[in-house]
Amino acid sequence: MSDDFIDLQSDTQTRPTAGMREAIASAEVGDEQRGEDPSVNRLCERVAELLDKEAAVFLPSGCMCNNIAILVHCRPGDAIIADQSAHIVTTEAGAMAALAGVMPETVAGDRGVFSAEQVIQAIRPEKRSLPRTRMVAVEQTANLAGGTVWPLEALEAVAETAHEKGLIVHMDGARLLNAVAASSHSAKAYSGPCDSVWLDLSKGLGCPVGGVLAGSANFIEDAWRWKHRLGGAMRQAGVLAAAGLYALDHHVERLAEDNRNIRLFAEKLNGVPGISIDLALVQSNIAFFDVSATGLSAAAFSEKLAARGVRIGAQEPDRLRALAHLDVTREQVLQAGDIVVGLARELVQS
Ligand SMILES: *Cc1c(COP(=O)(O)O)cnc(C)c1O
Repeated sequence: MSDDFIDLQSDTQTRPTAGMREAIASAEVGDEQRGEDPSVNRLCERVAELLDKEAAVFLPSGCMCNNIAILVHCRPGDAIIADQSAHIVTTEAGAMAALAGVMPETVAGDRGVFSAEQVIQAIRPEKRSLPRTRMVAVEQTANLAGGTVWPLEALEAVAETAHEKGLIVHMDGARLLNAVAASSHSAKAYSGPCDSVWLDLSKGLGCPVGGVLAGSANFIEDAWRWKHRLGGAMRQAGVLAAAGLYALDHHVERLAEDNRNIRLFAEKLNGVPGISIDLALVQSNIAFFDVSATGLSAAAFSEKLAARGVRIGAQEPDRLRALAHLDVTREQVLQAGDIVVGLARELVQS
């Protein structure tokens, strides 16, 4: 990323702050593979406590958190019920198939949120010729579905049904803390119904690297085996964990600002000729908007924005996705909104 841009492309664009770099510089470290890195141990205890699980493991990325959860929970030939927009289905290079030999059983949720009834319908009957349905995966927030917050009642209903049917419930909690900031519920309330759950440190929390996967002590023991097999076991990883601990102390409360900022951005775009945006969909730090009525594709619109100093990615042929995060101020988000509106007006008039 360049300082010349207002970068709303992704909350992965956050760079470690001065305070975080100090925490990194003064981190206590040890051999993480041997369980001897005090900073990593502290981070795992902190996240396990935050999510009300017995144990947690520090991993290099959110993708690895998902992959390991799937590898532990499933066997080759199993099927996972997930929304059609889910990161594990759309954006992990087919890892569930390539690594775990598992197939997705996708459902069409309402903005990424599906119902207990849809789960029941997606479960394959017990029959030798059919794949064994093993797991239900939910994403909080549902990123590519619009940044939707899974309502607690919907999550509880899905998890209860899944458990009744003998299925495991896994939460991709890349932006779980954004959902917490956007709602009146705690992280524990959302993680409670799930057997495994993880947080991404490298999105809105602003760390350079990492995710933390939590679950039962047995689950984490098995997860550790996969961590070694996949080459994810580390050594003096305390320098990375220190960033995570710093983020949990300093960057959680402020996620509400990101949610507010993107809301203001979305409100600026609402009703502008050429742009279509569904404000009901803007629930966390993500806003999708459609620019087809300007006559440009999302990619072409995105290029024109870049020429004006705003980076917002084309997520779909007609839609762009903007995210607010730690590295953009409210003023910058509003300025970006003005630039988007200005471009749309010009295109519609010409
Ligand atoms: C970013 C993201 C991931 C992957 O996390 P990385 O840390 O980038 O590997 C998984 N799920 C969702 C919903 C994400 O947004």
